[in-house]
Amino acid sequence: MAGRLEGKVAMITGAASGIGLGTLELFVSEGAKVIAADVQDEKGAMLERRFPDAVRYARCDVTAEADIVAAVALAESAFGGLDIQFNNAGISDRMGAITEVTADGWNWIFDILVRGPALGMKHAVPAMLKRGGGSIINTASIAGLQAGWGPIAYSTAKAGVVHMSRCAAAQLSPQGIRVNAICPGLIATSIFGATMGMTRDAADQMAALVAQNAQIAQPVKKPGLPQDIAQAALYLASDASAFVTGTHLVVDGGITVGSRHSWDPEAGSPF
Ligand code: NAD
Repeated sequence: MAGRLEGKVAMITGAASGIGLGTLELFVSEGAKVIAADVQDEKGAMLERRFPDAVRYARCDVTAEADIVAAVALAESAFGGLDIQFNNAGISDRMGAITEVTADGWNWIFDILVRGPALGMKHAVPAMLKRGGGSIINTASIAGLQAGWGPIAYSTAKAGVVHMSRCAAAQLSPQGIRVNAICPGLIATSIFGATMGMTRDAADQMAALVAQNAQIAQPVKKPGLPQDIAQAALYLASDASAFVTGTHLVVDGGITVGSRHSWDPEAGSPF
């Protein structure tokens, strides 16, 4: 059976780790060629060795517009074009409350989390138009929908990603380019290691925390994994979602449904 992304070329930022890596693996297994865009050169080289026919690494700091231009150009020169862009690279921060975040801190977070996907989309569009359209997916977060799931600068930036995706969808969908966001819940990756003061084995510690949290406060009693987000990205990347644009897909094991009765059987239900 042909893969669901057979003949498609994708660019994934933050592809060396976590959600980006899980998505790269799924996209390749579904027949896509992938530009792995990241700043972790060793891991990028390993991905090229692991998937010699399907993956090319682009050193791409999403805060550097020239790097994004070069990554899109690599998609065209190595694989003949660009159909899918997953703007997913991200970091978290320990900058504290609204009274503590510095002006430079706001710039730093917004440069990576908002301006990065903005410039990604800007430079993907001309390449996608040459192929008659495409699908862009931006990684937001449940922190962009509700307060309290992340630091304030991070959360505000992610809210921006949700709305930027809507605005871009309105502009680009008439030209055959769909734009959607994914809002992951708590996913076992190493991203929050720095936020939580973890210095070693951050990924393992995160996995333990995510698993514990799933048992306590999540309706779906299974830890969130990069593969769960990859499946959502596959849906939004593929033609199965041809009628879907400008939305944000929440993939969080139900943690934001907002009712204690949904996750705590002891609470009972008054209704
Ligand atoms: P991760 O740390 O495993 O992966 C992030 C990747 O982004 C890394 O490979 C890193 O090298 C890369 N990166 C960081 N800064 C970069 C830059 N300037 N240019 C290019 N690449 C850069 O973390 P993850 O959890 O897989 O994060 C992926 C995305 O998912 C992020 O946007 C994050 O905010 C979002 N997210 C994660 C969670 C979660 O619980 N893990 C929840 C909601 C949203």
